[in-house]
Amino acid sequence: MQGKVAIVTGASSGIGKATAALLAKNGATVVAVGRNEKDLLALREGLKTKKGSIRIHLADVTEFSQIDRMVSETVQSFGQIDILVNSAGIIKNGNIENTTLDDWDKMMNLNVRSVFNLIQKCLPHLEAVKGNIVNVSSVAGTRSFPGVLAYCVSKAAIDQLTRCTALELGPKGVRVNAVNPGVVVTNLHLRGGMDEESYKAFLAHAKDTHPIGRAGKPEEVAELIAFLASDKAGWITGATYEIDGGRGQTCAR
Ligand code: NDP
Repeated sequence: MQGKVAIVTGASSGIGKATAALLAKNGATVVAVGRNEKDLLALREGLKTKKGSIRIHLADVTEFSQIDRMVSETVQSFGQIDILVNSAGIIKNGNIENTTLDDWDKMMNLNVRSVFNLIQKCLPHLEAVKGNIVNVSSVAGTRSFPGVLAYCVSKAAIDQLTRCTALELGPKGVRVNAVNPGVVVTNLHLRGGMDEESYKAFLAHAKDTHPIGRAGKPEEVAELIAFLASDKAGWITGATYEIDGGRGQTCAR
């Protein structure tokens, strides 16, 4: 990762935070994007490495003018963009009968539209250095779960965006992959409206729903993202990688 410039969204929390820290530890210059300055500062403070570095960039990824600014400032400061990791995302409960249009729009706007825009805006720079993209999808992109309808649809869209983009950009030397985690212990579900007690029960239930017998850690997903973003994965593109303790192999129970 030495000499590589990586943009990581959702870097203030969970999977994005672990990924930003790992890429920097491996030597990359990381532009850590999020809205929560305190958490981004904590990420930078926690980095005890002389190899890479973290540049904090406050931005709402759904605001296209803020993304334009983030991309141009990154290129101005560091001259290139080698890696784009799209981790910012939200979940909200709801089925086909009760999902509000507002919740649907919020999830599509952040989980899909902002990713599409980020890819388009970074593309000329990624093409220039034959860089790569890793999208954070979900087991909910490949499997269907009741009660999180719009989230599942948004992640299925990310899987297809990953594959279509990979096909189109392969000839230009740009790789595009996704990771599809099972339940990972982060702030996602609490921020999505689950209360502490239900979250505890949800994690306990994860012992049964994941054949490995536990929920995942953000650092475990970060390792896969870092591998896919590295030159070691030079022949991998269009892949949607399950990293889910076997969750995606199970049937409802
Ligand atoms: P967290 O809630 O811990 O982190 C979400 C991140 O998204 C935060 O850094 C937050 O930053 C950022 N974010 C949210 N809205 C915006 C916005 N409008 N603009 C900029 N940043 C935003 O969740 P996870 O780490 O779990 O989620 C990361 C990804 O992993 C998501 O795409 C999620 O769908 C996916 N995933 C998570 C799983 C899990 O069980 N945790 C399972 C499968 C997939 P800030 O608040 O600073 O803006």
